[in-house]
Amino acid sequence: MHEYSIVQSLIATCARVAREHGAEKIVKIHVTVGKLSGIDPHFLEQAYQFFREDTVCEHAEMVLETEEIMARCQQCDHTFHVDGYVFVCPECDSRSVDITSGKTLQITHIEVKND
Ligand SMILES: [Zn+2]
Repeated sequence: MHEYSIVQSLIATCARVAREHGAEKIVKIHVTVGKLSGIDPHFLEQAYQFFREDTVCEHAEMVLETEEIMARCQQCDHTFHVDGYVFVCPECDSRSVDITSGKTLQITHIEVKND
C-alpha cells in the first residue's frame, strides 16, 4: 500500500531530525495531507501505528491537518475553493483551472523531547 512507504519515509525524517537535535524521542508530529494528495488519512494513521514501533516515533502522536483544494482560473484569474471535486470556475464557468493547493503531503512540525 502507498501509505506504508509514505509512513516509512515520515518516520525516517523524524529519526533524522531527532538525531540532528540530539533528542531521544519524538513527542508529536504534525502532518499536512492535501485532499488531492491521494492519501487516505485513515490508512495513513493505521500504517503509522504499525510502523512506529521500535522507532523514535513509538510514543509520538501524529496530528493530521487537512489541506483544502484551491484552484485559480486561467481565464479570469479568480482563485476559489474547490468543493466536491468540481474543477469549474464559479466566476466564468471556465474549466481551465490550475490547482494551487491540495496536493501537499509533508511534515509541517515535529516536537522533540530532549531529556
Ligand atoms: Zn474564471
